[in-house]
Amino acid sequence: AVFARTDAVEPKIHSYITETREQALAQAAAVDAKIARGERIASLAGIPGALKDNICTKGVKTTCASKILANFVPPYDATVVDKLAAQDAVITGKANCDEFAMGGSTENSGFFVTRNPWDTDRVPGGSSGGSASSVAAGQAIWALGSDTGGSIRQPAAYCGLVGLKPTYGRVSRYGLVAYASSLDQIGPITRDVTDCAIVLNAIAGHDAKDSTSINAPVPDYTQALVNDVKGLKIGLPKEYFGAGIQPEVADAIKQAVNRFSAMGAEVREVSLPHTQYALPAYYLIAPAEASSNLARYDGVGFGHRAAGSDIIDMYKKTRSEGFGDEVKRRIMLGTYALSSGYYDAYYLKALKVRTLVKQDFDQAFAEVDVLITPTAPTTAFKIGELSDPLAMYLQDICTIPINLAGLPGVSLPCGFAHGLPVGMQIIGKPLAEATIIQAAYAFE
Ligand code: GLN
Repeated sequence: AVFARTDAVEPKIHSYITETREQALAQAAAVDAKIARGERIASLAGIPGALKDNICTKGVKTTCASKILANFVPPYDATVVDKLAAQDAVITGKANCDEFAMGGSTENSGFFVTRNPWDTDRVPGGSSGGSASSVAAGQAIWALGSDTGGSIRQPAAYCGLVGLKPTYGRVSRYGLVAYASSLDQIGPITRDVTDCAIVLNAIAGHDAKDSTSINAPVPDYTQALVNDVKGLKIGLPKEYFGAGIQPEVADAIKQAVNRFSAMGAEVREVSLPHTQYALPAYYLIAPAEASSNLARYDGVGFGHRAAGSDIIDMYKKTRSEGFGDEVKRRIMLGTYALSSGYYDAYYLKALKVRTLVKQDFDQAFAEVDVLITPTAPTTAFKIGELSDPLAMYLQDICTIPINLAGLPGVSLPCGFAHGLPVGMQIIGKPLAEATIIQAAYAFE
C-alpha cells in the first residue's frame, strides 16, 4: 500500500532521495516467514518506515542531501537501524532533508525541494522534511528524523504529525552523521502518539558506541498511553507567546491549554527570562561544532573528490563543489567563532548563555511538570518565502532552547490556522519522555 501511494504522490511531494523497495520486500518476507514458523514477531513487524538520509545504512546510500556525499555508501548501520531491525521493521527508504540537517524547510537539500502534502506550494518544514512528508502523504507509516534545533518537531508541526525529540543521550547517535554533536538527537515522526511511543520504545536505550548515551533504564512508553492529566502542572512560558508568534498560532495553543484545564490539569504562567538569547547562542554553538565536524569532508577518506593541481587545490575544489551555500555559511560562521581572538568573545560566551538557558528550565521545572509552547511561530510557509537566512533562523525560536538544555520535547497537532496544521510543543524534564507522551495522548 505504501509503494502504491508513493507511486501516486512521489512525483508531486519528493519525499525520498533513495527508495529501498527490494530490501523492504525482503524484510517483509522475513516477517511472513517468522509467522509461518510460528515464531513471535516484534513490535514493528512488517510496518514500513522511512529514515532521514543522515542516518547510516549499510550498503544503502546515505547522502545527508549533500553533493559531497552523493555516492557515499556506509559500511555499517547506525545503532537505531540495528534496533529497528530487531523489532522486525521494514525500511522504505532514505528521506530528503536540508543538507547536513542545516535548515528549517528542506529547501537547502543539495538535490531537490520536498513539498508539504497539505499544500504543495509550501515547505514541509525541516530539516527532516522528507521524513515528515513521507508520513503525512502515506508513503510511510512512521519515520525517523534528527533534531539539533527543531528538525523533528517543526516539520511534524507543519505536516500535522507527532514528532518527538528525546532527552539528549536517550537515543544513540552512533551512525547519525554529526551536525552539532552536543545538540543532535534522533527521534520518531508519526501520525499519532501511540505510534510515537512504539517507535521510541524501539530506538531508545544505552549504547556503548555513543559516549554521550545515557545509561538509564528505558521504560515501556506505551504504558504512558493513558487518558489522565489530573493534577498535571503545566507551565506556559510567557516569552513564547509574544512578538513574532502569529496570533492564530498563539490562539490555537491557548485553546489547547484550556482543554488541558478542563481535563483537570493545573495551568500557570512561568518565565524563562533568557529565552531571547537562546537563538544567537545556538547560531554560534551549532555552526562552531559543524565547522569542526565537517572538516572530514576533504576528498581524501570518502565522498566526492575534485581534481586539483595539488592537495590544497584538491581540498578547495572538493569543498567548493560539494557543499551548498548554507553549509558554507555555517562553516565560515563556526570557524570564525572558534578562531583565536574570537573564541572567548563568541563561542565561550555562547556556552555561558547556554548554561543560563538551562538554568531557566531547571527553575521552571521546580514548579511545574511540563511546559507548553507553540512549536513554531507560524504555520508552513511558501517555498521561496524565507530567502533571508536570518528570517529562516527565526523560525527556530521555540525549539532551539530545548536542545540547548538537552530536554525532551514533543510536537503534536492542536488545530488549524488558515487551513494549515498548528503544532503544540510539550516540553519535559530530563528523561521524562513518558510524562510528555502521557500529556500528548490525553490531548490527542
Ligand atoms: N533549523 C535549525 C538549523 O538550521 C535546526 C536544524 C536541526 O534541528 N537539524 O540549525
